[in-house]
Amino acid sequence: MAQQSTLDVIVSLAKRRGFVFQSSEIYGGLNGCWDYGPLGVELLKNLKEEWWKAMTYRDDIEGVDASILMHPRVWEASGHVANFTDPMIDNKQSKGRYRADTLIEDYIAKLEKNGKTQKAQHVAARLAAAREPEDFYNIIVEEEITDPVSGTKDWTPVRYFNLMFKTFVGPVEDTNSVVYLRPETAQGIFVNFKNVMESSRQKVPFGIAQIGKAFRNEINTKYFLFRTREFEQMEMQYFIKPGTEGEQFERWREERLQWFLNLGMKRESLRLKPHDKLAHYAAAAADIEFMFPFGWGEVEGIHSRTDFDLSNHEKFSGKKLEYIDTVTKERFVPYVIETSVGASRSFMAFLCNAYDVEKVKNAANEEGGAGEGEERTVLRFHPRLAPVKAAVFPLVKKDGMPEFADKLYRDLQKSFKVDYDESGAVGRRYRRQDEIGTPFCLTVDGDSLTDNTVTVRHRDSMQQERINADAVKEYIWKALL
Ligand code: ATP
Repeated sequence: MAQQSTLDVIVSLAKRRGFVFQSSEIYGGLNGCWDYGPLGVELLKNLKEEWWKAMTYRDDIEGVDASILMHPRVWEASGHVANFTDPMIDNKQSKGRYRADTLIEDYIAKLEKNGKTQKAQHVAARLAAAREPEDFYNIIVEEEITDPVSGTKDWTPVRYFNLMFKTFVGPVEDTNSVVYLRPETAQGIFVNFKNVMESSRQKVPFGIAQIGKAFRNEINTKYFLFRTREFEQMEMQYFIKPGTEGEQFERWREERLQWFLNLGMKRESLRLKPHDKLAHYAAAAADIEFMFPFGWGEVEGIHSRTDFDLSNHEKFSGKKLEYIDTVTKERFVPYVIETSVGASRSFMAFLCNAYDVEKVKNAANEEGGAGEGEERTVLRFHPRLAPVKAAVFPLVKKDGMPEFADKLYRDLQKSFKVDYDESGAVGRRYRRQDEIGTPFCLTVDGDSLTDNTVTVRHRDSMQQERINADAVKEYIWKALL
């Protein structure tokens, strides 16, 4: 199957089964915005919960939930008003608008693919050094990069475009009432550094974590949830003593990579990539990249931010944000290691990682499903991420089986998101659950009524086993440990 079409198939499955819908679809949609459906909202919630538990159910990290609208000076101090820009270029023929750096990156990828490694390295070095709009423009013109739509080289000059969404507080739309929708959650953490440290009596090194919406007026949105204008981030700032940033940076890179692996990401689909070009705040940075159907893409950034943010907030607010070590009496503004992962982008990565189409080998007892050698679509989510943990089926709609199954279903529902399905052949019901990634299907048959057992069918192996109905809850709990 061609790569792009794998993504199309996943997008269409996501819509058909209620994971993700286009925002405002009945009005033709709004570019770069998506809605999570009944199953998507469960998957997203589970994903965020896994992150929250890993990052805050521990001694050294506290959670916060800061507001989206913040004092406008925050974004001056953070450098976003001056620097949170992307270079933009238009093609005069197609009227296509592009990020100039992305156009060049795509060109470099093409050179690499065609074995022109030296040339690719040369252009990549020029791109890494590019600062002014003309730097990007010169590369595009000199390398004769063409518009992907019109194929022409008819370009406008490059301009910088600020990605922050601007709005106004109160009824008067003047410069004094400008506020921004936050483009990252990190600043809500920095401005609360003192509040959290004092109220929770934490000592350096310690961290603050937050999950929340962020907004960026991206020039081009693309690849489904990968680049959107509204998205969710899960960010953690770890405050450390200056001089320890090297070891802390390494440690967080490894810890965060391990988080993805623990939730079932395939090792070969992940890589750590150091940044060639550092953001305005960073001393060192690396990305965790995932092999999406369209190629490698960042899912998380780990950044060594020095004391850039806290020192700037000290300057702009006039408030001291230093740390005093009560034992050594040392005073310093802490350095920061940041871990920043997109909830929405990693949702897409976990969805792609889980997606599988396989030829059925062991179709025994799956009457009415795909037969031996036929294909089944299965989402192999880790049980903790799976939107629905188990589905209960009465084998037939008679002889007391629906009543038995309903009782089991109601009981499980007190603890888990579970499904009930009594329509069609059992094999077909298995396929419906496979397609949404339900780890366990529980079938109630004639024997259940006499010996109180049910059949557990496993999503991945399609193996079946018989267990006591009273032990089912415990059985599912164990899989979620
Ligand atoms: P990119 O280079 O892809 O624009 P970035 O380096 O600007 O991303 P960060 O500012 O480091 O991204 O953001 C941290 C994380 O937030 C990213 O790893 C990604 O998962 C997520 N993210 C950033 N921008 C978007 C977006 N427009 N849509 C969805 N997720 C995003």
